[in-house]
Amino acid sequence: MLTTIISVFVGVTLVCLAVLLNVRSLRRALISRRIFATYKRILPQMSDTEREALEAGTVWWDGELFRGNPDWNKLLAYPVPKLNAEEQSFMDNEVEHACALVDDWQVTNELYDLSPEAWRYIKDKGFLGMIIPKRYGGLEFSAYAHSQVVTKLSTRCSALSVSVMVPNSLGPAELLLHYGTEAQKNYYLPRLAKGIEVPAFALTSPWAGSDAGSIPDVGIVCRGLWQGKEVVGMRVTWDKRYITLGPVCTILGLAFHLYDPDGLLGSKKHMGITCALVPRDTPGADIGRRHQPLNAMFMNGPTRGKEVFMPLDYVIGGPAMVGQGWRMLMESLAAGRSISLPASNAGMAQLTARTVGAYARVRSQFRMAIGRFEGVEEPLTRIGAYTYMMDAVRKMTAGAVDLGEKPSVVSAIAKYHVTERARQVVNDGMDIVGGKGICLGPSNFIGRAYQQLPIGITVEGANILTRSMILFGQGAIRCHPYVLKEMKSAYNEDAEQGLRDFDEAFFGHAGYTIKHGFGALAKGLTGSHFVSVPDNVAPETKRYYQQLTRFSSAFAFLADISMLVLGGELKRREKLSARLGDILSMLYLCSATLKRYESEGRQQADAPLMHWAMWDTMYQAQMAFDGVIANFPVRWIARFLNRIVFPLGHPYDVPSDRIGHQVAKLLIEPSASRDRLTAETYLPKGENEAVGAVELALLATIEAEPIEARIRAAEKSGALADNPEANVRDLAHAAFAAGIVTAAEYALLKRRNELRDIVIRVDDFPHDLGRSRQQPLVHKAAA
Ligand SMILES: Cc1cc2nc3c(=O)[nH]c(=O)nc-3n(C[C@H](O)[C@H](O)[C@H](O)COP(=O)(O)OP(=O)(O)OC[C@H]3O[C@@H](n4cnc5c(N)ncnc54)[C@H](O)[C@@H]3O)c2cc1C
Repeated sequence: MLTTIISVFVGVTLVCLAVLLNVRSLRRALISRRIFATYKRILPQMSDTEREALEAGTVWWDGELFRGNPDWNKLLAYPVPKLNAEEQSFMDNEVEHACALVDDWQVTNELYDLSPEAWRYIKDKGFLGMIIPKRYGGLEFSAYAHSQVVTKLSTRCSALSVSVMVPNSLGPAELLLHYGTEAQKNYYLPRLAKGIEVPAFALTSPWAGSDAGSIPDVGIVCRGLWQGKEVVGMRVTWDKRYITLGPVCTILGLAFHLYDPDGLLGSKKHMGITCALVPRDTPGADIGRRHQPLNAMFMNGPTRGKEVFMPLDYVIGGPAMVGQGWRMLMESLAAGRSISLPASNAGMAQLTARTVGAYARVRSQFRMAIGRFEGVEEPLTRIGAYTYMMDAVRKMTAGAVDLGEKPSVVSAIAKYHVTERARQVVNDGMDIVGGKGICLGPSNFIGRAYQQLPIGITVEGANILTRSMILFGQGAIRCHPYVLKEMKSAYNEDAEQGLRDFDEAFFGHAGYTIKHGFGALAKGLTGSHFVSVPDNVAPETKRYYQQLTRFSSAFAFLADISMLVLGGELKRREKLSARLGDILSMLYLCSATLKRYESEGRQQADAPLMHWAMWDTMYQAQMAFDGVIANFPVRWIARFLNRIVFPLGHPYDVPSDRIGHQVAKLLIEPSASRDRLTAETYLPKGENEAVGAVELALLATIEAEPIEARIRAAEKSGALADNPEANVRDLAHAAFAAGIVTAAEYALLKRRNELRDIVIRVDDFPHDLGRSRQQPLVHKAAA
């Protein structure tokens, strides 16, 4: 009897619940209205600049990863970016020549600038106008070609790559292309394309760096005299710093808040952030002084102006775009950020992989190439696998821009993780090279990269901020199928429509969360073995796809529970938000790595690079899950989350030493894999260049090794006992004298020794480091 009553009660309750949840008007009146009121109360206040930043750009593959069930067919179907014939010829000729023209030591230590010939060449050949369409005289290169060019230039000289990168990134050309008036485009774009104009863009001020929306620079709309006529214009006061190409620019893109106190443009007093193009010779514009960014020697400096009058025509897009500056900047940021920093930092990693790998074979200690010691193998492995992954991310992200995307979250992931991995790669390279990396000079092939790494970390969204606020913060709002809808409903001025939209989004959201909770648990319990994967993936990668789907599902659930429990508080809990962003990022890095492996035809020789990178990144994703769960503020929910995400424990260990050994080995000998890994590295010919010398020394070392093995055997048998020449420097001669090697072999060893000695050489300078030569002696007349 009792069971019948309970059954009837449960049945009636479920029917009521079903009716309540399915009859929308009832659901809205009884449930959604209350939740909506609470939601509106706790939703963090958002400034216009924050909202515009969040809403800018597009959602791409990040959306698939965020939503818990990535469609791998989509990833595999994205076209593999390729250079067309013209772009390939530019890489092979103009880029090669530009690299040959530049000597990084001369730039950073003597000229403090690119040489006049190098400037002339990059301007004349259109390097500064790669993004400008052909109809304006530009090269109209794809984003991928642009990325390839910058990557290669970065393997040669940072001043060269930055000087090319900046005019093609977020700046006057990009802004003019999208928002300029026809007159502005017709005048400036052909001049920018040919380097007649050199652009810079000035947003950052001493008081507003990361929080760029709060720049104190102002323009006041007023009447004034312009070329003899009275016109409505702006009196602009600015104080900017860190502006790349600022000291040599001929037109300065300038961002400031515009006010119209006298209502000359309408009723609005604060018009918002406005971007203008200010010619360098505008009276009152103070341009020309320099900063010295970590000896990189690209042009960078402050600019100031006090109440500088300029016509409204200076506004990019003319008077119609007054106050639209922030939106313009945010919309344009994603494209540039997808290319410039990922390319320049992947370039540094390629250079490190190429040169340090070779150095580790050429340099011996304890009578063995240092690259064969397990201790050195560890950093070599990271250098190889990270470089493989970074380049995968660089290419896939540039490819997205070519597909018409302006991927805001993906560009932030690429910028953050490629620059952070470059930091690790170059640091590892420095450790391997030892003292040779520390003493600067023309023979040092890594020291300048080490010095300049923090630049990429800081610019285009400083990394700590990007990780703490953007990756998950923007990801959650942009990629989630319901969060933005819920937020928009709360901001809707029509409260009833807002409630209707909220009700739809909220119940959709609830179903989505529950689905992912069950999905994550099921995949965890079955080790994700039943997750279906496209048939056309390489069999050796199938498990990665399955585990990535599992992690994606668990991430979708964890993200939702975090938002549900912490709400607006999550914005302040930056450590949790950062770790959630890490998970999303790792899923993206892994996707790019798998895509690269497929795109390059599943190169079996490269498989260790792919496997190590995948394991390491999946392991890091797993640690990021742990980091969120271990620090989740509500402990019983944390325990529940742990059960759902890792019901049978952790699926990943650290990557194996066995695969690590295979990766390290790929770096210390010539092979097609090594060439693919460092394909964009500029390789100067001959031993007079540090990079050329280490390349030659590697080949000579490999040729010499079997002969040296014989000498070592002879040594062991006592053939060279008590011979004072039996030391690392003179051993070859001793062996020749003792008849252990032939004359031809001795010649080969001698050549190897010459090249080795060039490679291990460290530059030295006069006691005053050459200062006396720079400051001519002043001969005073005798009294
Ligand atoms: C070499 C170089 C070239 C540059 N080129 C240009 C250019 O051409 N044009 C231009 O306009 N600007 C340029 N910049 C400026 C660059 O964009 C800024 O340096 C950057 O935005 C950071 O600002 P900041 O240096 O003032 O650091 P701050 O804003 O003072 O930040 C300091 C630290 O605090 C962190 N931080 C700040 N807020 C938060 C937060 N809410 N949560 C977590 N962490 C936070 C940051 O990540 C950073 O690590 C350049 C800078 C350099 C160094």
